[in-house]
Amino acid sequence: MFSVPDSVVEPHAGAVGGGRARRSLWVVPLVASIAFVTGVLVWAYRTEMDEQTERRSTMIADALSSEAQLRARLDTEMARLEDLGRHLATVPRNAAGLAGDPVVVEGLRGLWLSVTWLDSNNRIVAHVPDQQPLSGLRIKDLVDGPGVSSHLTLQAGGERLIVRYSPALLLRRGIPWWLTRKYDVQLVDASEQVIASVDEVPLRLESDGRLSYMVLVGGNMPGAYLELTSRELPLPLWRTLPLVLIGGFLALMLISTVLLRRQVRQITRAQDAWRTEAAWRQAMGDSALVGLRARDLEGRILYVNRTFCDMVGLPAQVLVGLMPPMPYWPPEVADEMALRNQRNLEGHAPREGYESLWRHQDGRLINVMVFESPLIDARGKQTGWMGSIIDITARKQLEERERHQAEAMAYQSRLTTLGEVASALAHQLNQPLTAIMGYNGGLQRMLGNPGYDVDAVRNALKNQGDQAAEAGRIVRRIREFLTRRGPQREACQLDAIARRAVELVQRDLKTQHIQVQWALADDLPAVYADPILVEQVLINLVRNAADAMGAVGHGGNVRIASASAGQGFVRLDVEDDGPGLADRTIEQLSAPFYSTKADGMGMGLAICRSVIEVHHGGMDAGKSSLGGARFSFTLPVFDPVLHEESLAGEDARAAWENME
Ligand code: ADP
Repeated sequence: MFSVPDSVVEPHAGAVGGGRARRSLWVVPLVASIAFVTGVLVWAYRTEMDEQTERRSTMIADALSSEAQLRARLDTEMARLEDLGRHLATVPRNAAGLAGDPVVVEGLRGLWLSVTWLDSNNRIVAHVPDQQPLSGLRIKDLVDGPGVSSHLTLQAGGERLIVRYSPALLLRRGIPWWLTRKYDVQLVDASEQVIASVDEVPLRLESDGRLSYMVLVGGNMPGAYLELTSRELPLPLWRTLPLVLIGGFLALMLISTVLLRRQVRQITRAQDAWRTEAAWRQAMGDSALVGLRARDLEGRILYVNRTFCDMVGLPAQVLVGLMPPMPYWPPEVADEMALRNQRNLEGHAPREGYESLWRHQDGRLINVMVFESPLIDARGKQTGWMGSIIDITARKQLEERERHQAEAMAYQSRLTTLGEVASALAHQLNQPLTAIMGYNGGLQRMLGNPGYDVDAVRNALKNQGDQAAEAGRIVRRIREFLTRRGPQREACQLDAIARRAVELVQRDLKTQHIQVQWALADDLPAVYADPILVEQVLINLVRNAADAMGAVGHGGNVRIASASAGQGFVRLDVEDDGPGLADRTIEQLSAPFYSTKADGMGMGLAICRSVIEVHHGGMDAGKSSLGGARFSFTLPVFDPVLHEESLAGEDARAAWENME
């Protein structure tokens, strides 16, 4: 899922060749279609050729059979004429006699147009049907006369019989109807002049590619040919239906190839983009200074980057696929780690990250800051967790060093103020001790009285006890203050700390005639801090203000204000009406050993700032509304969920440190 294959990031020659071959796959359907179409064309051409040969053979057979039928018909007519010749002697030698002969009647009903009887001198004996005067009729007219196309002649005992008939009628009656549907049937002479045609208007067709065949009629029609021409106009091959379909198919193939190619290009572009992105991601993952770790919903490691591997001292091949407990968990805190891991997988990891302690393979412990976020796939479904891990060991060590330094300095500063504290203590203790003495004297007096009031004695004893407790509290606080120890954070009220701090320096302020104005906000949430250290910071700031005002004259005002400061912080300002800071920044003022005082150490503000930063707060300085300087600091608001847990974490760490 996360590991990018080498071939993707650094494609080798084979992969490139394969990619190219894959990119050209779109040609395959086109080539296959062209091969298919070529095959179909060859098949269609051969079929067409076969069909033409077939049609030609059929036509030849039809022509020969038609010619035979025509010849048979002519032979029939000739036989009829011969029958007339045989009994001509019995026929009266006039037109009426000839017209009455049954053979003549039969012939005229059939193909015969006229019958002419010539004697041995070529004089007309009779002519039927006779519409013309015999004297005007010549033999040439008989043979070639209008409407006459052909004739039959019979020699009968020195006399002749000439029968005229219409070749067109002969064709129409002698050729079967189905053949005339298929073909143009014509009789032509040797010079291809049309003698007769089955059609009303005989057409001499120019060669237009139609099939045609001629056969010599012979017999009683010398020099005449029977010609059959196919009525079907031969369609050019490209106009036949299969070829039209093939053409359409090819066009569709071309269109789909163009679309396919476009699609393939888009996919290729998307693949290239994906490869580049994968390579970038890999490079980014490897070059990131933050350790990256992706896990599935069960906690199995899916991906780790190089920084992560360096952090824990294990290669990715070992880490990927591992399930908790992880090899980088210190065995001493494995149970705590398992609980935290369970919490994280359930989606309750703190959004702002959490600190953890891991162990490098070489055995050294590392402090890490872990930020978990859900891993979402393309469909928006959560598939696991992505963790960013920062190694904060160096920072932690630095913080620790600073903390120790701050503590040492604070200790020094506490010792310096010890004298003042001792006098404050004496002053504060004086009050409860005096009160205790007073109650003691009163009690003795009361008890010397025989009928003393028991309730009054009990009341005096209680008050005496309260005063003793107050004295004990004062002593305890001074002891705590003087004891050297690390920050012990707890939920505490900032305004209470401020009031206590001012109480401790009250004597000095009074001596210097400095008024304290309070501007504390009501209902401020508790802060998460060490009250003793924060008290020290405040004492320092108030004392600095007093020093600054004391340097310019007697008296002055200090204003202490608190307010909420945005998300999760509380702010406290200490302002004065002294000479101000003259544009000096907090960085300059809090630099170690910076002081403008003759006897100043220049460490006060440095310590204050590091104390505040140890508490994850911030410090700032500027102009005061009173006209002098303003020093402000912020502290985090106590969060029960977050801080209880880190309290528990600190306890666990402390326990472990103790074990060590
Ligand atoms: P020190 O008090 O030993 O000089 P600090 O670090 O507390 O050291 O203070 C550093 C310097 O900051 C002081 O010497 C002074 O010049 C300046 N400073 C601190 N507080 C105030 C203030 N309230 N008004 C003006 N200057 C101040």
